Amino acid sequence: MIYKRSSALFAEAQKYIPGGVNSPVRAFNAVGGEPVFVKEAKGAYLYDEDGNKLIDYIASWGPMILGHAHQPVIDAVVDKAQKGTSFGIPTEIETEIAKLAVSMVPNIDKIRFVNSGTEACMSAVRLARGYKGRDKIIKFAGCYHGHSDSFLIQAGSGAVTFGSPNSPGVTQGTAKDTLLARYNDLDNVEELLKANKEEVAAIILEPVAGNMGCIIPKPGFLEGLRKLCDEHGVLLIFDEVMTGFRLAKGGAQELLNIKADIVCFGKVIGGGLPVGAFASRNEIMNHLAPLGPVYQAGTLSGNPLAMAAGLAMLSELNENPEIFSSLSEKTAYLHKGLTKVLNDAKIPYTINRLGSMISVHFTEEAVVDFDSAAKGNNDTFKKFFHGMLAEGVYLPPSAFESWFLNDALTYDDLDYTINAVNKVLRSLA
Ligand SMILES: *Cc1c(COP(=O)(O)O)cnc(C)c1O
Repeated sequence: MIYKRSSALFAEAQKYIPGGVNSPVRAFNAVGGEPVFVKEAKGAYLYDEDGNKLIDYIASWGPMILGHAHQPVIDAVVDKAQKGTSFGIPTEIETEIAKLAVSMVPNIDKIRFVNSGTEACMSAVRLARGYKGRDKIIKFAGCYHGHSDSFLIQAGSGAVTFGSPNSPGVTQGTAKDTLLARYNDLDNVEELLKANKEEVAAIILEPVAGNMGCIIPKPGFLEGLRKLCDEHGVLLIFDEVMTGFRLAKGGAQELLNIKADIVCFGKVIGGGLPVGAFASRNEIMNHLAPLGPVYQAGTLSGNPLAMAAGLAMLSELNENPEIFSSLSEKTAYLHKGLTKVLNDAKIPYTINRLGSMISVHFTEEAVVDFDSAAKGNNDTFKKFFHGMLAEGVYLPPSAFESWFLNDALTYDDLDYTINAVNKVLRSLA
């Protein structure tokens, strides 16, 4: 494939935008080479600026669960745009989408809309701290909750000490309130809770992790967290920015049958427009301004364009719940095909999958947390990624990201992808 125009556009972009991108993973730093510039997309396919057609396995990192430029979403947005795009004054559609979301997701009474997953998680943590009157939170290494200061934290020295900033600009003061735990390790969490008695407001996690590749909670892990939270009076926050409205109508809470205290949303909930949300039961949500003392606001929050896209998306998922099983079956089919060609190629691998989230880790060891994910052979991944791109398949440009299937993918697309993987692996062997 030729990437002449993409390359020229990237050179120009780098003059005016740091690294040429508005979000770092797009820059291909993890895989090398230059990013592809997309011109348009429809259904399961991206069309780049050089006229190449690519099968898309990232779906804008999740939102495009029904494929790109999905007609009901586009129609809803175009219709709303004619009538004004933001007023900073209440609109009826905000209640319509809130009512629908509350009916689809278990254990929530009220929901507040924001503009990104980052904002949702940041606000959820503030609400938890305000509600509990405690400062500390526990997060898991490898889980991503957006780029707000409290989450840009790495493990500090010593097993039970607090975290340290993993980006310049995050203060030590902020870092000391975020405790780092290992995913799928209940003992580690219990240790942290005991060492910080009555100080921890909340535990936040991706109930199925997608930001260190796909990692699935071990049986009993989420149940154990729920129990520890109850014992220690700590709120359990599910960051369902990826899993919400993707794994099931009610997200991971529904699929895995675990009750969270606060749930964060993003990605699918906005139908491809910038939307996030956080939700909980009345008792907790009523602590938010203007009802309560915990402050949270947004000039463009709940704007009609974003709400129209989100409402069209959620309505379609709500009315056609077979979409979730269809997606899961397609992903299982891909899983089976990948397993066969990877076995044939005799390349060490582990595939993790749940519902329509899947990733190939190039290591034989079980991948259950950040450290085991980091054992994947990144060199193999880079070659694999670029090989697939050359075959017209766009995978996440990092081994630490899940693939997201969309329901516009056909079984022919999946067969094409499996054959392409086979071809690429053979060239690597
Ligand atoms: C993408 C993501 C976020 C951040 O959402 P943005 O809309 O990019 O700010 C937070 N949590 C999880 C689990 C995510 O996947």
